[in-house]
Amino acid sequence: MPSAHESNGALGDLVDPELPTSTYVLEPEVVAPLVARIVTSHDAGTHRSTFPFTGAPLASFPLSSADDVASAVARARAAQRSWAHVPVRERAAVLDRLGVLVLDHQSEILDLIQMESGKARRSAFEEVGDVAQVTRHYSLRGPRYLADRREPGLMPVFTGVRVHRRPVGVVGVITAWNYPLTLALADAVPALLAGNAVVLKPDPQTTLSALWVAEQLEEAGLPADLFAVVAGGGEVGVALVDHVDHVAFTGSTATGRTVGARAGGRLIGATLELGGKNPLYVAADADLASTVRGAVRACFSSSGQLCLSVERLVVHEAVAGEFLARFVAAVKDLRLGPGLDYSADVGSLVSQAQLDRVTRHVDDALARGARALAGGVHRADVGPLFYAPTVLDNVPPDALCVTEETFGPVVSVTRVASDDEAVRVMNDSDHGLNASIWSTDVARARRLAARVEAGTVVINDGYGSAWGSVAAPMGGFNASGQGRRHGREAVEAMTEAQTVAVQRGARFGVSLDSLYAIGGERPSRVVTAGLRAMRRLRLP
Ligand code: NAD
Repeated sequence: MPSAHESNGALGDLVDPELPTSTYVLEPEVVAPLVARIVTSHDAGTHRSTFPFTGAPLASFPLSSADDVASAVARARAAQRSWAHVPVRERAAVLDRLGVLVLDHQSEILDLIQMESGKARRSAFEEVGDVAQVTRHYSLRGPRYLADRREPGLMPVFTGVRVHRRPVGVVGVITAWNYPLTLALADAVPALLAGNAVVLKPDPQTTLSALWVAEQLEEAGLPADLFAVVAGGGEVGVALVDHVDHVAFTGSTATGRTVGARAGGRLIGATLELGGKNPLYVAADADLASTVRGAVRACFSSSGQLCLSVERLVVHEAVAGEFLARFVAAVKDLRLGPGLDYSADVGSLVSQAQLDRVTRHVDDALARGARALAGGVHRADVGPLFYAPTVLDNVPPDALCVTEETFGPVVSVTRVASDDEAVRVMNDSDHGLNASIWSTDVARARRLAARVEAGTVVINDGYGSAWGSVAAPMGGFNASGQGRRHGREAVEAMTEAQTVAVQRGARFGVSLDSLYAIGGERPSRVVTAGLRAMRRLRLP
């Protein structure tokens, strides 16, 4: 798919007019059909994305205006009215076909993910696997999540109660650039399954992957306008929050707070998947071989640009020497590379801004007396945005890489003398997304997990076992977010619960109305006796 192309205006008005002779990495034949899917009236300017591996221009595309967002949501809303009446099993079948298409066409999207995000192919494949999981899960389990539920009524036998789940309408999905395929679908799949429409605003850098998802959804049989993509930055996100009926946001804690506040002002729901500062604890009885393998992946997958990435290694002093020797050796062995194949273990950072942030955090720690056991250097020899996987020791508590999320290939080491101290260190953060505990005594690790402030705790794995278990909720405590994605929780967040209660006794004179018609104290006495009887009978 990639090949250098001298753009001479063949993309017509889709090409950035200020860059008529740019050399784009992607050919116009590849870009044009994708870009044609953006909801735009071509009057909000253009965006040029870059190829992180080389810094060359990747593609140029038009942006959406606030009016375009309003019209995308209006069209989605109209389409949603019919979609909500399509039987849930038919909706599920579309999502199931999507999962098959993504598996079948994986090489196309793996190229796009790598070209937009700069990650290694093995990290990109995590996204393909994830979408296969999410689509399979919701297409099989979704009908059950959405089934009507019977509940005990006010008057046993006489009051029949059913709870229905009704779609909210249009769900706005706003995503970060780090998992272009996964994030385009993690919330969209349960939203569509539940009978909603989706309008997606990806990060500008990863717009093509989002458009590819729109193409595949159409091929899977999703009716028109139910999944629309608007392009642009924060202002387009703001416009989206102003029009939709629920917002599913993935991004930084700072932006998440503003999105949550704006959604709150409109009284719409907001699911906020935000940053992390995730710890990994190596207990004294950990199996060191598997712990080293797991820790390396947990710290450096997607070059550490993963919300679940481990940035804090907490190691029991009894095994610290041996663990660190093996861990540092394995980190130094990691192969960095820009190939659109499986040759590299670790890819590039996505942007100059990310490189600047990682460099600032590492330089700050070193200036404060930390020591780099591995890495600590920009690898411009591999590509403009590559940074060596970095392990920092003796990092003072006020260093930036301790107090802030780095979101890069940098991990710092803290030694502890006991499990209690490990729990204190793990919980010493505003964030609470994921924690990983390594111990051969799973019962003990479970007891520790119960004391850790994090939305997911993974025992003897880094993050994949929690994220990939898509039937279970996923999300953060504290500054790491609000609400949950995956499982039943995602469907419940994007539907309204509607309770329908039928008073069957009314026509036989058995109802509160007929009772209170008696007047005086007697109705209260009858009700009191009834309430006591229900307690004795343990009716819930
Ligand atoms: P960001 O908050 O800057 O941007 C995320 C998205 O929000 C982008 O699409 C952006 O255009 C949009 N946006 C920006 N301002 C907005 C506004 N005012 N209103 C609405 N939308 C707006 O995030 P980033 O720094 O690009 O991404 C990295 C962050 O994302 C990290 O903190 C990472 O931990 C987090 N993240 C979290 C998860 C998770 O599941 N918890 C997953 C991936 C990334």
